[in-house]
Amino acid sequence: MSSQKGATAGPTDAKVLAPLPNVDKYSQIVTRFAPNPDFVLHIGSLRAVFLSHDYARMYKGKFILRFEDTDPRLKRSVIEYYGQIEKDVKWLGCQWDEEYIMSDRVPIYYEYAEKALGQGFAFVCTCEPDQFKAIIESGRACPHRSKSPAESLAQWHKMLSGELKEGEAVVRVKTETTHPNPAVRDWPAFRSSGRVQVSGLASVQLLSRGRRSSDGCYSYHSGKGASDQRGQADLPLQAHGLVVS
Ligand SMILES: [Zn+2]
Repeated sequence: MSSQKGATAGPTDAKVLAPLPNVDKYSQIVTRFAPNPDFVLHIGSLRAVFLSHDYARMYKGKFILRFEDTDPRLKRSVIEYYGQIEKDVKWLGCQWDEEYIMSDRVPIYYEYAEKALGQGFAFVCTCEPDQFKAIIESGRACPHRSKSPAESLAQWHKMLSGELKEGEAVVRVKTETTHPNPAVRDWPAFRSSGRVQVSGLASVQLLSRGRRSSDGCYSYHSGKGASDQRGQADLPLQAHGLVVS
């Protein structure tokens, strides 16, 4: 980064990471690599693994490995890939400090979703995707943003029960509707998956037990659509990019 260094650096000099901006503002630097266990790592994953790991070490911070496995439709996770990814990240020499599996934490996400909705920091949006996109790209708020927390909570419970089906409702976190990056304007935290067969907690527990079997033999109940032979659980809601610290 620095032109002074650039002037003296030779081809054999060790490369160092550019410093991160504003690090003084934070008590600790925490990074995470968050693969979806729907496949093994590929060459494109390496950049994220190395940068996350090396920056954490550079600032004596914390490096987290987090499995994003709460999308049963588009990124259906496969049990074998959890271990394979762990093995590959270790092989790269990037030992993590903490590991989280998002599907294990869905009850926590539900709890925080309820808190955010109840306090008016989030809302349930039932806009058509194209309609919402047009509104938010023009820097305005969708009509559902101004509803009361009680209304949002009532709809949230309908999402949980399956009364609001796939594509019919999204929980959005309130942010600046004029934020320079349109992707973070009232971003979606949960959406109905339309795959409700059992209660969320029951299905999450099934997945957790399967994941943690030590003998490598996954026995799942086949009834009620709670899971299948690959150890999948159908979660009633899909959590996206939710960070709970
Ligand atoms: Zn809306």
